Amino acid sequence: MQRLKDKIRDIPDFPKPGIIFKDITPLAKDPAALRLAVHYLVQPFLGRDITAVAGMEARGFIFGSLVAWELNLPFIPLRKPGKLPYDAQSISYDLEYGSASLEIHTDALNANDRVLLIDDLLATGGTAKASCELIEQLGATVEALGFVIELDFINGRKQLEDYEIHALLHY
Ligand code: IMP
Repeated sequence: MQRLKDKIRDIPDFPKPGIIFKDITPLAKDPAALRLAVHYLVQPFLGRDITAVAGMEARGFIFGSLVAWELNLPFIPLRKPGKLPYDAQSISYDLEYGSASLEIHTDALNANDRVLLIDDLLATGGTAKASCELIEQLGATVEALGFVIELDFINGRKQLEDYEIHALLHY
């Protein structure tokens, strides 16, 4: 895991003063480290009754699609507003300052689906919680959530108590 942590770069004061942003691009740039991260990321989900992998725009697309590839499952993108071309279901959620939205195609999932949700990082859990609700609005079930990084000191898990959560790297 230290080998993976060595590929996470701290960027102070991004995107605003006082925030130390965890930059995963050095990890994505190193093929061996990226393969290792995806290898570890899929372990808790092997042999499980999962029918699809969903990922949040944008860094969730990087890891989510690799996990979907590795598990030989469909990948479902959760996109920022106005990007999806077909009928979309939308959810808005609060951020520390302001709000954000995510959208999913209404035919992306149905009541038979058991979804693994993947993102790069769990902070407050607001994005993940909204993503779970969006998936559930289509009648699907969230089987589990997987993250590359969890910021333990923010305790985003507390608003995701109903879900199984796995994270590779903890800060
Ligand atoms: P949350 O909603 O507060 O849990 O924030 C998680 C979302 O914000 C994820 O979609 C992340 O991609 C993004 N995010 C927040 N902080 C960071 C960071 O330090 N590095 C990379 N992504 C971050």
